[in-house]
Amino acid sequence: MSQLPSRYFWELTQPEIAAQLRRNPLVILPAGSVEQHGPHLPTGTDIFASNVIGHAVAERMDGLVLPGGPLGVTPMHMPYEGTITLSPETYMNVVVETCVSTAKHGAKYLLVLNWHEGNIPSLAIAAEKLHRDHGMTVLIVQACYVAAELYGNECGGLTHGGEIEALAVLAYRPDLVHLDRIDYSSDHSHGRKWDKLRRTQSYQPVLRDVRTIAPTGWYGAPQHATVDKGMKMLNDIADAIATESTELFRMLDQAQGGTAEIKHLKVGT
Ligand SMILES: [Zn+2]
Repeated sequence: MSQLPSRYFWELTQPEIAAQLRRNPLVILPAGSVEQHGPHLPTGTDIFASNVIGHAVAERMDGLVLPGGPLGVTPMHMPYEGTITLSPETYMNVVVETCVSTAKHGAKYLLVLNWHEGNIPSLAIAAEKLHRDHGMTVLIVQACYVAAELYGNECGGLTHGGEIEALAVLAYRPDLVHLDRIDYSSDHSHGRKWDKLRRTQSYQPVLRDVRTIAPTGWYGAPQHATVDKGMKMLNDIADAIATESTELFRMLDQAQGGTAEIKHLKVGT
């Protein structure tokens, strides 16, 4: 494992990046959004979460964290002043062109680490392109769902502005979290009902506006979030993602390594 002063691409020098890409051609793209998160969390919550988790994963997997830009696709939150959205086309192009630049410098493995549900369709199309047209081995991780799997039970599920999101920001910059300003959470059972509906595999209602889920823009109970718990969540999520991703990249290499597999199967028949 190399002794880099940071895993953030834009904090390193050119020779440090060149040497690191030769040592291990793995890049991590944090994907998030800038959007309103109630009166207690910063608008950058989603992109801060993916950056801090991305850096912790990069330390474990010996990779580099790309500057993917803070913005994502979030028309649902546009009724609120604290929101900036890109169109899906613009966002896809930003993702593809960012990653292709690093592929030209030798990056071969791309882990897209996403913390914003509105980005999911655009990331899927961008990832296809990066794999088929540019030869990268690509893995998308929906880090917010990993967090929900690990911490959903004790944190009231993954909710917009709830405890899981507060913990992620506490692990990044505690001064940006204002638990003393928690106010006007929307009804939990109403929010949970809609979040469950929109996250099922078979039926996917398209929502115009976050107020369908939460009339006040957010719901949850983040009042017991602490820095210690945030750091624990960060470490648990990063451990899980690094372990699973290492295995998945190994399996992709094995499965997509060329025609050897076909020859092997023929021998077997
Ligand atoms: Zn969020």
